[in-house]
Amino acid sequence: MANFKFDVDGDGIALITWDMPGRSMNVIDTSVMEELGTLIETVANEAAIKGAVVTSGKTTFCAGADLTMLEGIAVTYKKLIKEQGEEAAIKAVFEESRRLSLLYRRLETCGKPFVAAINGTALGGGFEIALACHHRVAAQDDKTRVGLPEIKVGLFPGAGGTTRIARMMPPADALQLLLKGDQLKLDRAKAMKLIDNVVPQADLVKTAKDWLTANLKNPNVAKKPWDMDGFKLPGGPVYSKAGMMVFPAANAIYRRETYDNYPAARAILSVVYEGLLLPFDQALRIESRYFAKVIRTPEAAAMIRSLFVSIQELNKGARRPAGPPPTQFKKVGVIGAGFMGAGIAQVTAQAGIPVVLIDRDQETADKGKAALHKALSDRIAKGRATTAQRDAILNAITATADYNALKDCDLIIEAVFEDRKVKAEVFKKIEPVIAAGAILASNTSTLPITSLAGEFKDQARFIGIHFFSPVAVMLLTEVIVGKNTGDKALAAALDYIRAIKKTPIVVNDSRGFYANRCVLNYIQEGHLMLLEGIPAAMIENTARMAGMPVGPLSLNDETGLDLGLRILRATEADLGKGIIPPAQMKLAEDMVEKNGRMGRKNAKGFYDYAPGKPKRLWPGLPDLQPKKLSREEVEALDVEELKQRFLVTQAVEAARTFEEHVVTDVREADVGSILGFGFAPFSGGTLSYIDMMGPKKFVELCRRFEKKYGPRFTPPKLLLEMAAEGETFYTRFAPPKPKAA
Ligand code: NAD
Repeated sequence: MANFKFDVDGDGIALITWDMPGRSMNVIDTSVMEELGTLIETVANEAAIKGAVVTSGKTTFCAGADLTMLEGIAVTYKKLIKEQGEEAAIKAVFEESRRLSLLYRRLETCGKPFVAAINGTALGGGFEIALACHHRVAAQDDKTRVGLPEIKVGLFPGAGGTTRIARMMPPADALQLLLKGDQLKLDRAKAMKLIDNVVPQADLVKTAKDWLTANLKNPNVAKKPWDMDGFKLPGGPVYSKAGMMVFPAANAIYRRETYDNYPAARAILSVVYEGLLLPFDQALRIESRYFAKVIRTPEAAAMIRSLFVSIQELNKGARRPAGPPPTQFKKVGVIGAGFMGAGIAQVTAQAGIPVVLIDRDQETADKGKAALHKALSDRIAKGRATTAQRDAILNAITATADYNALKDCDLIIEAVFEDRKVKAEVFKKIEPVIAAGAILASNTSTLPITSLAGEFKDQARFIGIHFFSPVAVMLLTEVIVGKNTGDKALAAALDYIRAIKKTPIVVNDSRGFYANRCVLNYIQEGHLMLLEGIPAAMIENTARMAGMPVGPLSLNDETGLDLGLRILRATEADLGKGIIPPAQMKLAEDMVEKNGRMGRKNAKGFYDYAPGKPKRLWPGLPDLQPKKLSREEVEALDVEELKQRFLVTQAVEAARTFEEHVVTDVREADVGSILGFGFAPFSGGTLSYIDMMGPKKFVELCRRFEKKYGPRFTPPKLLLEMAAEGETFYTRFAPPKPKAA
């Protein structure tokens, strides 16, 4: 066996230790399935073996199925369609996708008891094997997570997990767990009865074995409740009063949360509902059927690629220059203890790196740290952090106005006012104290990095590290490479982002970099729809139906209408009059300057924000619309077209950034769009959205919109070429194949 060790002790208890060679974590691939099959048969058939404990030889239990194997199923499907026709192809996918399910079912019903000894994180297929076992013990560890997060990559648990969870708890709880895909801490998993016992690591295997020896005499030790007579579903039958309370409501919630954009989420509802009407083995068959269907959807393929494979590759440094040695950060300096600076200090300290936080004077620096104290204390009050965590973060941050404190920093990040002069002054103060070889980064959101670098003596050591707000929450960071930025600075910036556990994308210097360019188009489309007379509520709703997490008007409120107006004016100053539609400029001016509506920050934006109440669209808004559509005109609007406008305007901008070499790697454009501004995750990101539609159809759509709405939809030359040549982004610009983990 390559992947497992197998020992039988004097009491006839087998210990199966999962330890895949050459990998940091166990995953499920075809070799694992084959060997596991053999092991289960050995336990089942050898009379001397009374039961088995399954554990892992690594620090984690199992990370789940090898998603590249799942990608392989989709590839096989396409191949088989050509060779043997669709029916045979679908059958093959069905057989392949139920292999693991049948294997786990055999383990569950082979007549000998299995205990999962979970010694670290167990996710997806790795947790499903534990659910198939007859008892689950976990080793106490705060870092351990268990759960079924498949939904996050467009899938659902297809190795019996969905069917088992639906029989282990009432359906409303099961649906929540499956649809959210939360990774649970052990105490929560135990409270939900997904884990039977949590013990110290040193006692793990012994506890598992002891349970077996103590229970071997029980004739039902190797039987699950659903395989015994008289089993009752935890929430009662589907066709009961209780059942009828759950399923229609679940359906409505599903629609509200997903707008039916996620095939896997829809499948979860069906599998649970249909499965609970049937005996266990038939329910498993239904689960496999839906799994085989979902795995063939373009959404699953796109989500696996962007949200699993690509994110991992970027996190592991796919874009890091190989030359420079890894940087160990002894200390990081942050200048500007404002909104962003305090956030940057927080995430840095959280990663265990000491921080020097500088502002204009001691008082302002202290104020920044005090704001952080308050934000962290609020989290404690909500049960999201502990006092110890807060204190550790604050203890690692030294607030000062003294630039000498920067002299042993490996990296200094500037987050002062967005004003070239102020920034230049700050650089002049940094120059005499910055250590030889240390890197200077700017968090500017609009000033070109190359020109800012001109204010610093050693341009090779100057780079942009653009955080998103709120820093502690947003997972993405854009690294901006100026014309003279050196490899060492790029490598150090990526090492830092890895240390603070964010996902980096590397972009070349340009106005608005990548994310803001796309997202500004999204907000603009909302403004323009408003000017066309479309009701604000409809704008917001259709944007969410398209898959965006918040409507464009809400988003504008969050980022600040005053900032939006400043950006519009700066864009016009740089690129010339006419670049911003005059009516849009007037709307922004009317909102900010005539009506004092700044957005969420002053509780007055496109929405009104009253304390303790849900936000409401501002009733004065229709007065700012130069025209208003009649009820009949509104009813005649093409909702599909409105949805497409929101996504197309962002995707076409992403394609432009790609053509202009602002973004150079398709993975970064896609991952950056989902993590940076929530671009319809089911699409796999801005460029995957184009690929999914096919560049030819996308160009046709752009042309139609261009005619109707103007040149903001004009497709770039690159897209025309791709459409003509029948290429996609992922064929024409295929990223390098990853090395095996
Ligand atoms: P802010 O006004 O909250 O904070 C700026 C801080 O810089 C203040 O505490 C101020 O006292 C300090 N400061 C000003 N001049 C200084 C000087 N000469 N020396 C030392 N400190 C000085 O602003 P913010 O929102 O935190 O933005 C800071 C930077 O981050 C800007 O460049 C902005 O463009 C960028 N940024 C902001 C966001 C956002 O959403 N707010 C997002 C990405 C990037």
